[in-house]
Amino acid sequence: MYEPPHPWHHCSVQQTFKAVDSQPEGLDSAEAKRRLENHGANKLPDSQKRSVIFRFISQFNNLLIYVLLAVMIITGFLGHWLDTGVIAGVVLINAIIGFIQEGRAEEALKAIHSMLSPNAEVIRDGQQQTIAVENLVVGDIVLLQAGDRIPADLRLSLVKGLQISEAVLTGESVAIDKQCEPVEPQAELASRTSMAFSGTLVTHGLGTGIVVATGTQTALGQISELVSKVTPTDTPLLRQIAIFGRWLTATILVLATATFSFGVLIRGYPASEMFLAAVSLAVAAIPEGLPAIMTITLAIGVERMAKRQAVIRRLPAVETLGSVNVICTDKTGTLTRNEMTVRTIITTDRQYTLTGTGYDPHGFLTIGKQTTFPEANHPISLAIRAAVLCNDSTLRNEGNEWRVHGDPMEGALLVAGAKVGLDAEEEKQNYPRTDLIPFESEHRFMATLHHSHDGHAFIFLKGAPERIIEMCSQQMATSGPTAIQQDFWSEMIEQQAHNGQRLLAVAYSPANYAQVELTFTDIANQFIMLGLFGLIDPPRDEAIEAVNDCNQAGIRVKMITGDHVLTARAIAMQLGMVNTEEALTGQQMDRLSDEELFELAGRIDIYARVNPEHKMRLINTLQQHGQIVAMTGDGVNDAPALKCSDIGTAMGLNGTEAAKEAAEMVLADDNFATITAAVEEGRAVYDNLQKAILFILPTNGGEALIILTAVLLGFQQLPLTPVQILWVNMVTAVTLALSLAFEPKEKRIMQRPPRPSNQPLLSNFLIWRVAFVAVIIMGGTLGLFQWELAQNPDTERARTIAVNTLVMFEIFYLFNSRFFLEPILNRQGIMGNYYILLAISILCVFQLAFTYVPIMQVLFGTYALEISAWPKIVIIASSVFLFVETEKAIMRHFFAKPA
Ligand code: ATP
Repeated sequence: MYEPPHPWHHCSVQQTFKAVDSQPEGLDSAEAKRRLENHGANKLPDSQKRSVIFRFISQFNNLLIYVLLAVMIITGFLGHWLDTGVIAGVVLINAIIGFIQEGRAEEALKAIHSMLSPNAEVIRDGQQQTIAVENLVVGDIVLLQAGDRIPADLRLSLVKGLQISEAVLTGESVAIDKQCEPVEPQAELASRTSMAFSGTLVTHGLGTGIVVATGTQTALGQISELVSKVTPTDTPLLRQIAIFGRWLTATILVLATATFSFGVLIRGYPASEMFLAAVSLAVAAIPEGLPAIMTITLAIGVERMAKRQAVIRRLPAVETLGSVNVICTDKTGTLTRNEMTVRTIITTDRQYTLTGTGYDPHGFLTIGKQTTFPEANHPISLAIRAAVLCNDSTLRNEGNEWRVHGDPMEGALLVAGAKVGLDAEEEKQNYPRTDLIPFESEHRFMATLHHSHDGHAFIFLKGAPERIIEMCSQQMATSGPTAIQQDFWSEMIEQQAHNGQRLLAVAYSPANYAQVELTFTDIANQFIMLGLFGLIDPPRDEAIEAVNDCNQAGIRVKMITGDHVLTARAIAMQLGMVNTEEALTGQQMDRLSDEELFELAGRIDIYARVNPEHKMRLINTLQQHGQIVAMTGDGVNDAPALKCSDIGTAMGLNGTEAAKEAAEMVLADDNFATITAAVEEGRAVYDNLQKAILFILPTNGGEALIILTAVLLGFQQLPLTPVQILWVNMVTAVTLALSLAFEPKEKRIMQRPPRPSNQPLLSNFLIWRVAFVAVIIMGGTLGLFQWELAQNPDTERARTIAVNTLVMFEIFYLFNSRFFLEPILNRQGIMGNYYILLAISILCVFQLAFTYVPIMQVLFGTYALEISAWPKIVIIASSVFLFVETEKAIMRHFFAKPA
């Protein structure tokens, strides 16, 4: 380990460099690699997982299991040892299945979280590089900016308005001002202002720091109780199900007691026999497999979304996605490609075009069709120089490809520079930068202070044209500076924005050579306007398609951009958005009262020149309209809006850590089309959850009805014993019901409107279907049982037929459950889900074992059926298939969609 002469916060920057054996140009790659091998990766051990044993025991913490355990004890007392043993077996197997499924779901979620491993900007080999945070080593120089999560413990070496929120470490939510001077050796963690600690968050400003500790050596790694982010694993729907389950259990217990009393008191059955009947009823009616199926369905949904580049950070989002009806999205990079190219440059007396595409710096400056090579002090050269110097990006040829590191728009300016022969590195050496005000979307400009070697100083300014013009009193003409003509520039801005070009203006002002710091007070209205840059950034093809999909799916797309209103409208038109006629700017929004905004927000789809506060206001207004809003964001200031929206969506590539942490979902590819894909998957998940309910409940309902009817009608023998019912529930849950979780999405899923968020879980349609099917299953099973009993008085045989009929009913009904209303009798319907066919095959093997294996016959009281019994079972059971398909046809005829 590296030992400093004093505590790191008390060391000077020089001492720190020495102690970690590094320098301002950073380590070289070979040394960094060696340090990584010697000291290990920069990560903390996985947060304490729930111990395996605890996870297993928690499977027994369930109302149903309590009921079963009670039944087990009583059957034991009554001397029904076989039943006691089978129930014990079922309880155990149930716990094992729950345990395995939960483990799978947890694994799936963990794997997805690792997709979000963050990067850090470092200086190595004298160059800015992006590396995985895990690969940071002591001695690396890390560059920091607002929104970054500090990747390791750093001794700060340079700061510019740097503020860091250390809430994770100290609990103090107010951000701390950082600086580079050493602080007292005995300073508390919160007062070590010369340090930036791993896990804390940059809220403002810029800085660089030297890595002094990584992984478990960091202050964060030292605190025993790890600050692991808790991902809630339940969702509104799961909670609804849990409540529903509790009510159901209570109702069933009451019903079972009533049946018991009825049988004993009115029908005069012996109490021990009636006890078994009541138990059968209880175990029949409780849908024990449902919660596990729900969790698995959600986990599969999360995996599917991740495959389509949407990473879910909070599980409830999976469900909410299905009811999203407004998507508020950024423009640049999300709807557009973020591959910018400077196409037009306008100076006071000329309009230029730049040829070439992408970041390849081959192209020419032309006036009309004529190529031109401007002189060094010509306004166009000054404008491009300003754009190249007031710039934080780098352009590099990597392999055979030109790549921009940093902001793509700034990269495009470097390309423009290269096309006219201005080399950024050379310019930076000629005009070294002394200070800067970084770009923020609140003030929409960036300013840099430079000193030339011949005793001059300049401030360069670049930003949104309206802002820059406000600060200019003059403009640069070929003949020299003249008074600014505001109207001329406004006209040019409108003209270019109308073509969908993204606009940027540059200006400069001479400064006092003694000035070494740049503050907002230096940015008054003394600037000289140099030129206007028009950049093209075409819409993504897949975004055009996705906007169209949203239009069809009843989802309104709203564009929220920092860009010029006309640029925004032009792009909105290319994208095919609904209302491109109207737009609101941030300034206009400020003038509107809440009521007025409420009126407009439903209708208007384009919001331009807005800042993060406007986003908040818009979300609140849309939510008042009862909308379920997905909102995208990337900056640190977007975090509140992301938190506030129903589905906060952060950018995975260009988003800050702060935005990602506030978001429910992260787009791994920053692409708008990914949001639509996630919505589609969200709808499918909700469908599958409903389908699981639609499948499981009638099965339980049917079983309960069988017992209830048998008791009410005074049958001599119950058609099913409790252990047989447990068997059916268990084997069908792990085979048939589980296969529904893998159900692919329905064909026209994006052509129906979003699900109303207040729609109850059990819609009228669902309740009807459950009751309808339960009655069919009851009628068929009970009927065949009685008929068989009349033919052959062997109860075991008749019961074996009843159990197999019940299971066969479920097999047929499983096909019906694949589509709510669409017919199933076609190739897609029968063969569309491979898991269903697999599940049925496995279930058939289970049933054959149940019927023919001697030990099973002893355990479950079954009988080796003659072959001729099977066709009857299949024929009776297939009736459900026909009944439900007929019901669907009638429903389709009368109602367009399920209620
Ligand atoms: P979106 O919200 O759709 O991503 P945006 O990227 O245009 O839109 P901002 O980043 O807030 O939104 O930019 C607003 C305006 O500020 C831009 O139109 C541009 O004129 C100017 N601007 C953007 N980036 C810079 C920068 N690095 N330096 C100077 N000015 C910039």
